[in-house]
Amino acid sequence: MFREKQLLLLPGPTPVPPRILRAMSEPMINHRGPEFKALLKETTAGVKRVMQTENSVFILPSSGTGAMEAAVANFISPGDKVLVVTVGVFGDRFAKIAQTFGADVEKLSYPMGQAADAKAVGDRMRQDKEGAIKAVLITHNETSTGVLNDLEAVRREMGEHPALLIVDAVSGLGAAELKTDGWKLDVVIAGAQKAFMLPPGLAFISVSQKAWAAVAQCRSPRFYWDIMSAQKYLEKGQTPYTPAISLFFGLRESLAMMEDEGLERCFTRHRLLRDMVRGGVKALGLKLLAEDASASPAVTAVKTPPGIEANTVRQLARDKYNVILAGGQQSLENKIFRIGHLGWVQPLDMIAALAAVEMALIAAGADVQPGAAVKEAQTVCIERW
Ligand SMILES: *Cc1c(COP(=O)(O)O)cnc(C)c1O
Repeated sequence: MFREKQLLLLPGPTPVPPRILRAMSEPMINHRGPEFKALLKETTAGVKRVMQTENSVFILPSSGTGAMEAAVANFISPGDKVLVVTVGVFGDRFAKIAQTFGADVEKLSYPMGQAADAKAVGDRMRQDKEGAIKAVLITHNETSTGVLNDLEAVRREMGEHPALLIVDAVSGLGAAELKTDGWKLDVVIAGAQKAFMLPPGLAFISVSQKAWAAVAQCRSPRFYWDIMSAQKYLEKGQTPYTPAISLFFGLRESLAMMEDEGLERCFTRHRLLRDMVRGGVKALGLKLLAEDASASPAVTAVKTPPGIEANTVRQLARDKYNVILAGGQQSLENKIFRIGHLGWVQPLDMIAALAAVEMALIAAGADVQPGAAVKEAQTVCIERW
């Protein structure tokens, strides 16, 4: 099949627009020269706008997990008590990284498909009268289940507790509203290969004034991810080590595209795609993993009917229709498939995806009506777009 017409509907990596691919084929430049200095300044300012923050922002050469590690290594010391609020695979990963760095991790876990209960986080923080908890780690958009946490409510519930609020927004930033300053998020991380429409390899991290105070006290070992070193170099218009220059060329285009669309319109588009997919899936009589109230605008997890293996549906969608869907992770393996709808995607991509899902389900032996999902998705689109 036509490789370049493949519909890549993963929650990362996401499709990369030709404009970005072209920009990335530019010749190399000196990363310690004036051109890169200007590029670093422009892209850092652009990421700040997307993060809606005046805080310090750094662009790191890694996938999202590298930024998760940076968010632990710079702010959390061995023995520090931290509360990790987890609603899936990526929340669990944050807990594991904190444990690896010697933190005393307390997990507040929710079953796959559920969102965190902000009130419960607040209750736990109110119990901690002596302020033993140094940081709360939480996922913005949990990619493994398609659940969006209400960070604004979590922050509100934390009240005056001095703990840092550290947020993994790797798949959420740029797809769902996130107000770093408005919601007083101390550290926010994000990644290039999700809503930013770039190939994998860049991550972003913001650092509040309060978080800077923790950096100075932090006893965790770090070298490559040392944020103080990143700050020192940023002041000179450089990064401590050789940056992923081609990805910076791409990032400049990505930010220009996001700016052209406008953040509000971008969030509206992602919500529309979500509701087209959810409406379509429901019309087929299939079950969704997440509830409507906390459904992610970036990715939707669909349960397959009894007796139908999710991986068979995915394989058929890929082999017959050139549509790539994501599978379930860990306990959800072969039980769900996930449709990514973040980044460079538009309503017609969802119509195509749902058409492929219908046909793949039928090929797998499911009793569904062809056209039912497509029709509902069109109805949603006609009403709202
Ligand atoms: C993709 C993702 C990550 C990072 O994964 P990488 O494979 O390291 O890029 C972290 N958190 C969330 C919520 C993600 O979706």
